[in-house]
Amino acid sequence: MIQFDHVTFQYEKAETPALTDVSLVIEQGEFVTIVGHNGSGKSTLAKHINGLLLPTEGVVTVCGMRTDHEEDTLAIRQKVGMAFQNPDNQLVTTVVEEDVAFGPENLGIAPNEIRVRVDEALAAVGMSDYATFAVHHLSGGQKQRIAIAGILALKPEILVLDEASAMLDPSGRAELLETVSKLHDEGMTVVMVTQYMEETVGCDRVVVMNGGRIVLTGTPTEVFQQPELLAESNLVPPETVRIRDTLRTIGFTLSDRVLTAEQLAEELCPS
Ligand code: ADP
Ligand code: MG
Repeated sequence: MIQFDHVTFQYEKAETPALTDVSLVIEQGEFVTIVGHNGSGKSTLAKHINGLLLPTEGVVTVCGMRTDHEEDTLAIRQKVGMAFQNPDNQLVTTVVEEDVAFGPENLGIAPNEIRVRVDEALAAVGMSDYATFAVHHLSGGQKQRIAIAGILALKPEILVLDEASAMLDPSGRAELLETVSKLHDEGMTVVMVTQYMEETVGCDRVVVMNGGRIVLTGTPTEVFQQPELLAESNLVPPETVRIRDTLRTIGFTLSDRVLTAEQLAEELCPS
């Protein structure tokens, strides 16, 4: 569904490339998370998915269309919904349902169809009860879910989130992650850039970036088995995995499947 083929990208006036020889294939329905310290190239990679940035070298293909083919730009942007860090920058009106309707209205979609889309999108993010609420009364997590509803109302096939949880409190982050997981369960292809390792445990595949390159990729279980490689990228596995590994060093037998607090508790004290 998304293919990066030896992609190198250099910003104008930059001395070194922000992406170097990135190759990556993301299948339809996959949930991929991208991690890496600040400046490792995550946002640059994300912006290549909907053609906001075009490769200096190499090719990005989305749903069979090359992002550098201008005639396909609009079609690609319709297939790829992007959510960013600050929910306030993504909300444009004052009432929840008006905000979700804003995108489809701009596309000239018929009012009855918009009504259906808005209702479906709000239901998908668990915000149906807030349709007539004022946007400024919502929490950060709720605002981010409304921003995602606005994206869903445009019927994308791929959802890209670039540190969309970064400005949220822990409960807002949990809300957002739950929403994203549900959308993935329902078939959405998800690419989620995150600075929180804990948020990667439920995904299909983790992509670790460092210095503009992909340095490690695999299932969460596989990636967390390589703490030394992660450390080279200034990253540490989620806390639960570190506790698991520490318990192993003092003699506990715990499987690699242990990624969450619940799984750790279950293996320590099987019910
Ligand atoms: P991340 O999202 O992982 O923090 P970015 O993709 O934003 O990383 O940045 C990758 C590299 O590109 C960094 O070295 C950053 O300084 C540089 N960079 C990002 N945006 C620009 C820009 N608009 N112009 C020049 N350099 C940029
Ligand atoms: Mg970034």
